[in-house]
Amino acid sequence: MNSSPSFTNLDSAPGHRSGFVAVIGKPNVGKSTLLNAYLGQKVSIVSSKPQTTRTRILGILTRPNAQVLFVDTPGIHSPKHSLGRYMVDAAISAIDDADAVVFMVDLSELPDDDDRRIAHALRDRSDNRSVILALNKMDRRLEPAELQAHVEAYWALAPTPEGEQPPAPWDWIMLSATQAKNLEELLDKIIAVLPEGPLYYPPDQVTDRQERDIAAELIREQVLLHLRQEVPHSVAVAIEQYDERTNGTVHIAATIYVERDSQKGILIGSGGRRLKQIGADARHEIQRMLDARVFLELRVKVRKDWRSDERELKRLGYVNEA
Ligand code: GDP
Ligand code: MG
Repeated sequence: MNSSPSFTNLDSAPGHRSGFVAVIGKPNVGKSTLLNAYLGQKVSIVSSKPQTTRTRILGILTRPNAQVLFVDTPGIHSPKHSLGRYMVDAAISAIDDADAVVFMVDLSELPDDDDRRIAHALRDRSDNRSVILALNKMDRRLEPAELQAHVEAYWALAPTPEGEQPPAPWDWIMLSATQAKNLEELLDKIIAVLPEGPLYYPPDQVTDRQERDIAAELIREQVLLHLRQEVPHSVAVAIEQYDERTNGTVHIAATIYVERDSQKGILIGSGGRRLKQIGADARHEIQRMLDARVFLELRVKVRKDWRSDERELKRLGYVNEA
């Protein structure tokens, strides 16, 4: 209770704001890029392939007047099996739990059915919660008339007559996550709608995820990148051992779970070459994150139907916390 007095002092600063912010949107609109830009390190996984982000990630951003707790969510998509439902549940519960929602879309394209589905869920679920429509990728040049048409098409997703600016509690902004354009302006809008509240975490903490969880996700990312379509979502990674040695090196042993023997074969590759390459690339990424020398040992195991088994999902870390 009294373990961090400076923390408690900051806690009571008058007018301080804090709260949970869900960044939602379909895959590939730039959600992870935005979080990484705010948090300055690879907390959440960025990839040009859709749906690499699967677990909810809490990114913490502390400013003198506020602490923003970001929840990254998978893109809402049609559920196919138990894991799909988990992903949808995670996105929906992120909306329910959040004090504010950043609804991110790709301004360079017109809204599609996925955007409309998410907007619909938001209008249904967010009652009077603040929603900030983040029109990302403004660096992709459009003709003025086209730009106007795109902006209005996205405004029309808000609960308002077509073509009019979204009324409160919705707000909107154009930005570029990759060019760091309007990021502070978006942050100001987010902070402005957060309730008054304390500092929940020490100011220098950027995530409550253990580094080992991020390591698992980096390994999973490399598996997906190397396998492309061959073993789509039936991969999970569990960290069995994570030791920081006194000389600064980190020793990690991880198991990659697949559903079928055939997938195990594909993953290992002839002469073990593919697994070796995955290990080398994952090790490189983990070293970058930790800024330390890493020894990585990978194993592959078959675990039939782990995707449909709730207990297995929990064990592998896909836990939908309250
Ligand atoms: P997520 O699936 O919503 O998390 O999307 P990501 O953050 O993984 O980004 C998907 C792709 O869009 C990546 O190739 C990013 O580099 C790219 N991207 C993200 N933000 C921008 C932006 O502001 N402008 C442009 N041109 N590309 C962006
Ligand atoms: Mg992402």
